[in-house]
Amino acid sequence: MEPHILRRSAESGWIEVVCGSMFSGKTEELIRRLKRARIARQRVEIFKPGVDNRFSEEQVVSHDDREILSTPVATAAQILLLASDAEVVGVDEAQFFDEDIVAVCEQLARDGKRVIVAGLDQDFTGAPFEPMPQIMAVAEFVTKLHAICMVCGAPANHSQRLSQADELVVLGAMEAYEPRCRAHFKP
Ligand SMILES: [Zn+2]
Repeated sequence: MEPHILRRSAESGWIEVVCGSMFSGKTEELIRRLKRARIARQRVEIFKPGVDNRFSEEQVVSHDDREILSTPVATAAQILLLASDAEVVGVDEAQFFDEDIVAVCEQLARDGKRVIVAGLDQDFTGAPFEPMPQIMAVAEFVTKLHAICMVCGAPANHSQRLSQADELVVLGAMEAYEPRCRAHFKP
């Protein structure tokens, strides 16, 4: 069943994960779900890790500039303190949170909240990007999005790094990555 047509109850929340490679539209999909919740007058809060400040301190911004106000937090535990009044909790760039994000998401869901988590499922080497795999394992719903391979046009499951920078992800450097299929991904 599509998670957005389920009815949230006070007794039971759940976790939705939206994952995939760069340029797969994860943030766009997160924003779409959160805006629908807001239209239904549900109380929505959005959080992102404080390290991701490439465009704005207050907004989750997708690459197509659809934006929605969010709160940058330094640790996953802060989400529990700040989300107490929310019915729907969005988490963007979840791969940059500490491992506590897994327990935090589970606690929010136990408290009856709908939790929607977006993040990269692989790093630039093609390895699982912790803690995303942990969240995917405990989530009720996992949506995997794909970009399109810039070499051949096939569905792209990987983020090919084009630069030689040492950081795990070159934040916001769209030109430093391009989507690639399995055949054209060179870790
Ligand atoms: Zn390809």
